[in-house]
Parts: sequence; structure tokens; C-alpha cells
Amino acid sequence: MDCIFCKIANGELPSKKVYEDEHVVAFHDINPIAPVHVLMIPKKHIQSLLAIEPEDKELIGHLHIALQKVAETMGVKDPGFRVITNIGKHGQQTVFHLHYHLIGGKQLEWTM
Ligand code: 5GP
Ligand code: ZN
Repeated sequence: MDCIFCKIANGELPSKKVYEDEHVVAFHDINPIAPVHVLMIPKKHIQSLLAIEPEDKELIGHLHIALQKVAETMGVKDPGFRVITNIGKHGQQTVFHLHYHLIGGKQLEWTM
């Protein structure tokens, strides 16, 4: 399968990793939109949030706990930050491997 995030997860493609364990990996977005912009992915290929299955429950819970650690490491836990997952065309998803954007490092706005 030709998936760039699978390749990042298995080390075939380089990335600036900030966290990794057996099930998930977090790395700097190549095109950051804020001072802190990290992508958190499961190593398992899942297309998007809509493709999460009941058997993935533990994995997705694990990812969220790991995300707390990443927020702490990146220094955004206390001032706060944003987590986004884009889905499909209107969501402007461009990489079809489930990923959570962790965005922060400045005061964010909420407009579309
Ligand atoms: P999406 O638009 O699917 O929600 O987000 C995909 C994100 O992946 C974008 O923010 C984009 O900058 C990032 N991205 C795309 N290709 C690469 C890559 O090869 N390496 C890294 N680190 N980020 C990537
Ligand atoms: Zn993948």
C-alpha cells in the first residue's frame, strides 16, 4: 500500500518524531500552521475516523493517552491547544491514514 504515513510509521520515510511507542507515533507536520504542529497517528493503517472499528477501541484510547504526553512534551498542555482530524472532501483530508493534528503554541482563533 502506498501510504506516506504508513511509511513514516515504519521508518521508510524520515520524519521529526517527538513520540513513539509500539502502537502510535507523533511527528512534526512538514508544513506547520502554528508554532506547534504535530501529527499523531496509529501505526495501524486506518483511513480516517470513520474507518475506526470496535476492535480499534483500545488503540484509539491509547492514542489519546499518548497525546496527553505529547502535549506535555511540546509545552502546550497548560496554555492549551487544539486537536483536529480532517475527514473526507469537505474536511479537506489529504492523507488517508487517520491522524490527529495537535496545534498550539499561540492563542488560536475559531473562525472558518
Ligand atoms: P490532512 O490535510 O490530511 O488533515 O493533513 C495532512 C497533513 O500532513 C498536512 O498538514 C501536511 O502538511 C502533512 N504532511 C503531508 N505529507 C507529509 C510528510 O511527508 N511528512 C510530514 N511530516 N507531514 C506531511
Ligand atoms: Zn497508512
